[in-house]
Amino acid sequence: MTERNLQSALQADQKHLIHPLQHPTSHAAPKIWVKGHGAMLVDIEGNEYIDGLSGLWNVNVGHGRTELARAAAEQMETLAYCSGYSGSSNLRAIELAERLAARTYPGINTFFFTSGGGEATESAIKTARFFWKSQGKADKHKVISRKWGYHGVTLAAMSATGIESYWPMFEPRTPGFAHIESPYPLFFNHGFRPTDKSPTPGIAAANLLEDAILREGPDTVAAFIAEPVQGAGGVIVPQDDYFKRIREICDQYNVLFIADEVITGFARTGAWFALDRWGVEPDILNFAKGVTSGYIPMGGIGVNGRIKEAIDSADPSRRYMHAFTYSAHPTASAVALANLDVIEKEDLVTRAAENGDYFLVQLKQLESHPHVGEVRGLGMMAAVELLEDVDNRKMFPADRKMGEKVHAAGVERGLFSRVRGDVYCLAPPLVATRQQLDRIVEILDQSLRAVFG
Ligand code: PMP
Repeated sequence: MTERNLQSALQADQKHLIHPLQHPTSHAAPKIWVKGHGAMLVDIEGNEYIDGLSGLWNVNVGHGRTELARAAAEQMETLAYCSGYSGSSNLRAIELAERLAARTYPGINTFFFTSGGGEATESAIKTARFFWKSQGKADKHKVISRKWGYHGVTLAAMSATGIESYWPMFEPRTPGFAHIESPYPLFFNHGFRPTDKSPTPGIAAANLLEDAILREGPDTVAAFIAEPVQGAGGVIVPQDDYFKRIREICDQYNVLFIADEVITGFARTGAWFALDRWGVEPDILNFAKGVTSGYIPMGGIGVNGRIKEAIDSADPSRRYMHAFTYSAHPTASAVALANLDVIEKEDLVTRAAENGDYFLVQLKQLESHPHVGEVRGLGMMAAVELLEDVDNRKMFPADRKMGEKVHAAGVERGLFSRVRGDVYCLAPPLVATRQQLDRIVEILDQSLRAVFG
């Protein structure tokens, strides 16, 4: 494409499109992507970049998969769409639900499909409320979530999201949402003093949920929602004993545990679903992104037997009046099935586990930079957190925009990803080669030198 084409595309974009998180300062020179293959993206000028975040943490099987395109085309030619409302169904959605029942947690066997992750969160919250009402506990309606959690930005999802910059211009938030501290080991573990009740930082962080439930009143709390690894909040990997204690607390106080695995699902962390690593199961599972590797919009929730039973045994006048036109979309389901085939045939779960371990070891070398406070990760998710004073865990003032500067230096060298403040986030496609992973480390090394000298 010529420079002229770039300019006219840019002008039309700036005139006619509102982008997520829109602001002219972040959109003066956007990349206009035209093509992708494997772990690579190509812009309108023909420049190639490593896709350091798999699009938005979703293109797990990599770009340019003709199998997924063929599955969509075949289904569109046969039956692109039909209603999924009670009274209608379709073969692809049935098959997908059956496959997911086998791949998700043993207790999660029934699914409701949405168009994306925000709708999955809305569905999970509404399903939790439905469940407690069906049990005669209508007061149990509140939701507890965590600082740095991201669950989407529709109104209730935004209220659960714990990244505060998403709130101010859209408040008031939905009532009945409370947040607890993130287990964020880099900060939470520091200076920790064990007590009988909280012998480790992981248990102390989890016990904050118990405090919040008691503060809110256990009879008013419907659910706790958490990502196994906080993604958009900066790839925060919890302590190993955190989720086991969370599960105990949820059981003790009759609070449903919603695992938001929109990022961590579908092999991203080197397991089909991430809580498996800690031997914990949720009551409701949120998924999206990797279910279709982003080839077509889809998300959903999986629920356990108690919730399924509550839906099935409700009086018709108290039925599950929750719905989307695109729930159980046949074409989206067909693409998801083809995507599952790829993950299974190419054993991307093992590949993500092995390459993720390799990637983290290589990335850890960056900790020798004076301003790299921590390199952390799990499977094919990782983050490099910059600090002004590493020894004292002191952050740079936000207006110095160090993260953005490192990101810009990376783009100049052929790596495209995202930052959360001064946390550089990475989640390359699971098919990225070791050579490409090495190149990411090399580019970040050069970018850190370029920015910090
Ligand atoms: N939950 C999590 C954990 C996410 O990472 C995201 C998207 N980044 C969402 C929910 C929201 O998904 P969507 O953007 O499809 O609404």
